[in-house]
Amino acid sequence: MFSGFISGEFSISSAPIPGYAFVVNDETWFVLEDAREMKYVIDQYQKPMLARLNNLSDITSIEFVEDVEVIEVMHSGIFAKSTEALEKLQENKDEAQLYTVVPGDNLWDIAQRYSLSFKDLATFNGDIDLDRIWPGDIITLQPSKPSLDVIITTTQVMEEAIPFTNDIVKDDTLVSTARVVIKPGVEGTKNVTYAIKTLNGFPHVVEVVNEEILSEPVSGILKVGTQTTMKRTSSTNFGVAQGRLTSGYGYRLHPITGRREFHYGIDIAAPQGSPIKSYAKGTVIEAKFSSGYGYYVVVNHGGGLTTLYAHLSKINVSVGTRVDVGHVLGLMGSTGISTGSHLHFEVRSNGNRVNPLNYLN
Ligand SMILES: [Zn+2]
Repeated sequence: MFSGFISGEFSISSAPIPGYAFVVNDETWFVLEDAREMKYVIDQYQKPMLARLNNLSDITSIEFVEDVEVIEVMHSGIFAKSTEALEKLQENKDEAQLYTVVPGDNLWDIAQRYSLSFKDLATFNGDIDLDRIWPGDIITLQPSKPSLDVIITTTQVMEEAIPFTNDIVKDDTLVSTARVVIKPGVEGTKNVTYAIKTLNGFPHVVEVVNEEILSEPVSGILKVGTQTTMKRTSSTNFGVAQGRLTSGYGYRLHPITGRREFHYGIDIAAPQGSPIKSYAKGTVIEAKFSSGYGYYVVVNHGGGLTTLYAHLSKINVSVGTRVDVGHVLGLMGSTGISTGSHLHFEVRSNGNRVNPLNYLN
């Protein structure tokens, strides 16, 4: 009985029995005896690539780039072990190129030295905070090239806005930078389906595969003025005043308090007495003194647009004065909270203080 068992085993291994061949471009790389073993080997090979993905639930396909087939064959030789099969698959075509950070390195220099973009570095080093690299950190310049490339496709659906357009109605009672919404437009919405392809787990291409419109945008109607405004014509001529731009719109350190704060206008510095001109045609709605602005003037241009001129040494207009574009409202000075002769100029659109330079173009 014992010898019969031996002879039985001998006879099985000598005669062809079914197996599974892993075939790349018509070349057999290995043959495994069991279909589940084959699946295990392929899964193990793709596992580190899948580990680079954020969301495994959206995977729609995993494909080899090369022509790979698993074929059922009759096999009479020795079957490969799964460990050997995996080793064969994991032989890299090219080893990874790594770089060890040294003191004084920064990412831009490293990227330049190796002709890589910052984006490439971020892609290959998803697990490293590239804003904080330290000597000794190891950065991947080029990931290893695996024996078989794998494209993993994930699908994502995003709801996105569709912008609306405005029909323009011209109005000669408003200045050219005024905007009055007659009928607000409504954005539409759409579901966009993206196929995000990764090569060996690294971002590769993003394609739009489908767009489904949920609601169409509705166009609005916008009234736009035609009256001319003062414009910046050189580095020192800002139309409303001539001088040097000493402070822009945005965050700055306040020259007097030393605190970081938002500057809601622009400062144009020139000698005391320089003329301050109205940005556009309009009506003076404020002309007075305040502790902060000193002597200041506000002109309403209609369409929700007003302009403010502060720190004047002299005011030439009063509330209710109708002014034309370029009308001299007063003279430059340093009244109120000010460190020297300059104009502080603000533009307000529907009550919001906006960047005046955008209105002087
Ligand atoms: Zn200012």
